[in-house]
Amino acid sequence: MTRGCRDLPGFRPGTGGAEPVRSRRHRPVVRPLAALLLCGAFWGPAGAALPPWQAAPPAGNAAAAGDALGERAFTHLKAQCAFGPRNPGSSGHARCGEYIREVLVRAGGAVSTQTFSHKAPALPEPVELTNILARFGPQRAGGILLGAHWDTRPWAERDPDPARRDEPILGANDGASGTGLLLALAESFRAEPPQIPVLLVFFDGEDLGREGYSGEYLAGSRHFAANLPELIPEMAVIVDLVASSSMVLTLDLTTRTFFPEWGTLIDGLARRLDLTAYDGNWGPELIDDHIPLLEVGLPAICLIDFRDPFWHTHKDRPENCSAVNLGQTGRLVHALITGGFLR
Ligand SMILES: [Zn+2]
Repeated sequence: MTRGCRDLPGFRPGTGGAEPVRSRRHRPVVRPLAALLLCGAFWGPAGAALPPWQAAPPAGNAAAAGDALGERAFTHLKAQCAFGPRNPGSSGHARCGEYIREVLVRAGGAVSTQTFSHKAPALPEPVELTNILARFGPQRAGGILLGAHWDTRPWAERDPDPARRDEPILGANDGASGTGLLLALAESFRAEPPQIPVLLVFFDGEDLGREGYSGEYLAGSRHFAANLPELIPEMAVIVDLVASSSMVLTLDLTTRTFFPEWGTLIDGLARRLDLTAYDGNWGPELIDDHIPLLEVGLPAICLIDFRDPFWHTHKDRPENCSAVNLGQTGRLVHALITGGFLR
């Protein structure tokens, strides 16, 4: 994640959105954002006669289920951090990639990968990046894409100790949190198979950009957007920085601008699920893995905590994260999968 996105080619927040990249292969399913906005149409929650959250399932034991999901996700967060920093090219990165694949295969997902070479301006050599995809539920187009980045930042420019700013961060919140949540959801699908297609995408190379150079981020999601799978999801939800002990979960400005009904839906779900860590106020304009998806016309939103005080420092460690907060994010994402909002 980084701030601002006005310098991204083809992306004009609030003025009609992305100019979608069209190909013959994807033309039938790619929805241009510009058309969506200009027509006043919204490709979102189905059957919106009532306020959307009234269509949500009863909260019931959601809190307990969310706690269990949060605990499982936190176990995966710690397991990733045990590999050390997972910046591309490191041994921790290689081992973590194996770990993610193994968990997904064990969970019964149809797993595939996208591997490519990437030269980040701030790194001396090209690095090999791998997006990891796992499909669950009905094998058809539609449903939801859940995305998180699994790489961690190769440096810590915000660390208070100048001597350690060149060292890679551990990325418990920035990398392992969203990845851990998606892995826990994958495991939950064994007992509760999703009724809609669920495509989990673990993006690599999200965090290889220098501060102030927003075009250097998002290598994995840019590659994914240029190589979309055959079965296109209806909606993408990116989760990032979703486990901090001080988490304030929010939607970024781009999400609110392009998908106001999804903003309303999620605000309502958060109220209904009594998510104390959720803030319904508008967040800032952020660069994250939803941006390249928007640029090719795939509706994509971002759930994020942009206030983490340990962001891009060496205090981004498991002891500064919370299973309870991770579980709150999990309950919200679970509700989006199961609430009947997507086909
Ligand atoms: Zn980051």
